[in-house]
Amino acid sequence: MKSAVVGFPRVGKLRELKFASEKYFKKEIGKEELLAVSRELRKEHWNFQKRAGIDFISSNDFSYYDGMLDTAVLMNVMPEKYRKLKLKGMDIYFAMARGYQGEAGDAQALAMKKWFNTNYHYMVPEFEDNTVVRLTGDKPFKEYEEAKKEGLETKPVIIGAYTFLRLSRFNGIKRAEDFISDVAKAYASLLRRFDKMGAKWLQFDEPALVMDMNKEDIFLLKILYSKILEEKKEIKVLLQTYFGDVRDCYEDLIAMDFDGIGIDFLEGRRSYELIGKYGFPKEKVLFAGLINGKNIWKCNYEKTLKKLNELKNYAPQLVLSTSCSLLHVPYTLENETELKEEEKQSFAFALEKLQELRNLSILIENDNFTKETVYEENCKIFKKERLYQNRQVKEQVAALQNSDFIRKPERKERERIQKEEFGLPLLPTTTIGSFPQTQEVKRNRSSYKNGEIDKKAYDEKVFAFIKDCINEQEEIGLDVLVHGEYERNDMVEFFGENLEGYVFTKRAWVQSYGTRCVKPPIIFGDVKRVKPITVKYSVYAQGLTDKPVKGMLTGPVTILNWSFPREDISLEQMAYQIGIAIREEVLDLEKAGIRIIQIDEAALKEKLPIRRSDWYKEYLDWAIPAFRLCHSGVKPETQIHTHMCYSEFDEIIEDIDHMDADVISFEASRSKLTILDVLKEKNFETEVGPGVYDIHSPRVPSVEEIEEALSKMLSRIDKNKLWVNPDCGLKTRGTTETISSLRNLTAAAKAVRNRLK
Ligand code: GLN
Ligand code: ZN
Repeated sequence: MKSAVVGFPRVGKLRELKFASEKYFKKEIGKEELLAVSRELRKEHWNFQKRAGIDFISSNDFSYYDGMLDTAVLMNVMPEKYRKLKLKGMDIYFAMARGYQGEAGDAQALAMKKWFNTNYHYMVPEFEDNTVVRLTGDKPFKEYEEAKKEGLETKPVIIGAYTFLRLSRFNGIKRAEDFISDVAKAYASLLRRFDKMGAKWLQFDEPALVMDMNKEDIFLLKILYSKILEEKKEIKVLLQTYFGDVRDCYEDLIAMDFDGIGIDFLEGRRSYELIGKYGFPKEKVLFAGLINGKNIWKCNYEKTLKKLNELKNYAPQLVLSTSCSLLHVPYTLENETELKEEEKQSFAFALEKLQELRNLSILIENDNFTKETVYEENCKIFKKERLYQNRQVKEQVAALQNSDFIRKPERKERERIQKEEFGLPLLPTTTIGSFPQTQEVKRNRSSYKNGEIDKKAYDEKVFAFIKDCINEQEEIGLDVLVHGEYERNDMVEFFGENLEGYVFTKRAWVQSYGTRCVKPPIIFGDVKRVKPITVKYSVYAQGLTDKPVKGMLTGPVTILNWSFPREDISLEQMAYQIGIAIREEVLDLEKAGIRIIQIDEAALKEKLPIRRSDWYKEYLDWAIPAFRLCHSGVKPETQIHTHMCYSEFDEIIEDIDHMDADVISFEASRSKLTILDVLKEKNFETEVGPGVYDIHSPRVPSVEEIEEALSKMLSRIDKNKLWVNPDCGLKTRGTTETISSLRNLTAAAKAVRNRLK
């Protein structure tokens, strides 16, 4: 049986692309060097796959920043504000990705959004009324040729026309429908060009087909592809879907002129049912996504072979594939020298998954596969008893009662008590938690991890950073302070490291956006807090000032969503286990005199099922209670904050209110403040700080700009409920730009405050 990979990670085994790009941004290296590093990476990635014997290897799955952005630039979808900068190729691309401020002008970055239910973020392309969609770029062609020179026939992959249009934003009067013809033409020219170049297969990624689709959507899909596929001569086209099933358009898809269809049989709960019910055309190739592109556990050969055999009955032309791009898993276990053997045995990262594809594609052809050692060894792993089980934790979860999820007294009453308790001015200013992680901060952490300094020396340094940070904030004039989060590398890993049941990797990085990578910890067993985690840092910080300092925790849903979860118990069970651990920490902070506690749920929306009909019973019905479990035990005067990142909250705004926090801050600046209307319309009760500027760009917002944002907010939000803050933590920013930005933020808040009086 042949094997395929939807896409491969791009940042490099040791994050080479990240480091090269960052040097390029700082002008420490030139374009040529960045290009050279990238070329090397592509070559390496192709060769990994070739050596593993993969038959269908992708090209153009590489990106300098993001694939949606690549597609926008390829198709000439570049808003005027970036064109005006008159920058050259690569730099206009990076201006769209990161914003630009310099000699050429000033432009904010494109909006960034979560990529379906993953922790990857894509750049949202923007169409304007005068946008002329045309195939103007050549990246996919160049990369295909490059692979060819390496002796590889690849299948170029590109975001499909439907997903491209569905995920884009339309700034003018024109809508997606108005661009159909030009978009179809542009994709058709791409197809033609690959055809001429002699490419055998072309892959269109269409994950948007697993979202709920209505009649208009189906119409859009059909019209786009009927036009695009008209141009098909020799080349074959693979329509690749992932992250769910295509129940709304399956019948249409199989009737269209695709040569192959890629279906996710892991997250697609109805994929089997669809094939069973409607069949699969004999002349088409079914790319069966059965190797998990999102999780790091070994594939169960016994189960997978059974499934493959069943599928063979429906689709004689079957190719074994990954469930989605391997972009969402780390590179290789080879880098993990410190994992225990028993732990390692359970995992497969990208390179090991290539091996699984290979093994399975051979085993499936073998009638005596049960006698093969690779098969027997795989079975053994799944029969063993699991590591790190904890009876007590299981019992605690089982004993939870309704009252454990309800905070008393009610919000109104708490609000009154807290206004008195804190005496904060109108429009109180604060930040989201982290301050710039300078070289010094990072060096301190690495010295400690390398064993060059001991825990005591490490903590002394951390305390020194905290002290500077508090002084800085006092000077800037913020109202509610933070300790700066210098003790943590990452908001999830740090907690994981302090909880039992977790397993850590050293180099298992996964791209989150652009040059940012995360190293998700792995929930291996039952999760339990064994000792206080943040208390000493918060207490120290609070001791330095009369202003309130927020205790800073990560919520259970985010910890869960940003970890690799177990596959043997439910997400709900895991969320409650973590919820209990965070609750213990909250109560310890309160006991130690911390009066405001922020429990970040940055990733709350991340695992929201893609289809609306699944939202409650599969997710929100336990996710929201898991958060409430953390804070329901605090005193009325203790103020609970939460924070959320990138995503559209519009549709779950009432559920966010039900989290019953006192204050919430969230990303708003990049999504153009549309959330404000929803807050008003739904009568949002929680006090709220929609971010007044975008921290994902080094740009310094002006006082006027922030005042303007605040005015807009005040037109929708009661002045007694509005907070002023950046849209996320500041850890990725430089110190100078941060201080300037925050000074402007407090100046703007003061100015608006005075006007309100
Ligand atoms: N408190 C965290 C920080 O400030 C929140 C980060 C996030 O939302 N991603 O870094
Ligand atoms: Zn955030």
